[in-house]
Amino acid sequence: MAKLYFQYSTMNAGKSTLLLQASHNYRERGMDTYLITAQFDNRAGKGRIASRIGIGEPADTFGIGEDLYSKIQARLEKSAIACIFIDEAQFLTKDQVWQLARAVDDLGVPVMAYGLRVDFQGNLFPGSAALLALADEMREVRTICHCGKKATMVIRTTDDGTVLTSGAQVEIGGNERYVSLCRRHWREKTGDQTPD
Ligand SMILES: [Zn+2]
Repeated sequence: MAKLYFQYSTMNAGKSTLLLQASHNYRERGMDTYLITAQFDNRAGKGRIASRIGIGEPADTFGIGEDLYSKIQARLEKSAIACIFIDEAQFLTKDQVWQLARAVDDLGVPVMAYGLRVDFQGNLFPGSAALLALADEMREVRTICHCGKKATMVIRTTDDGTVLTSGAQVEIGGNERYVSLCRRHWREKTGDQTPD
């Protein structure tokens, strides 16, 4: 039975590396995979999944409002696919996560989604909220805070290290940096206020 998988973590845990390795394992055995990542500009289809350790693969992209069931169905009509990999899954809409669930159930193809659980204010991303609700299998990709505890939160800072506590959930192409922390150190850095 095909399943919908969600692998979640905070920033810089190596999700893209794991995605690329898992896809490679299929391809090494002669099975094709279909890679999709978020479309951050208007170049539909021209995406790339890259990891911080220096490996990368070209990928198709999903845009806001795009029907992923139809997209997957169209791809499967061309040739067989053993598994679909979605990177930056936090940017999916709730509708798109349901479309992935339908693709798993009705087209019989496994979908492995990789994404961030919470944003820099400690709020669930919409795509991650829907995946946490709908996924058949979930796994946390672990990374650690500077103190050695598991990092589950992320702060956004400016180049000079000032911690930002407000602003848009998604800041594409900005100069902000992200640091993953345990919750205690995240509270310390953000002033220990309950986020909006
Ligand atoms: Zn810590």
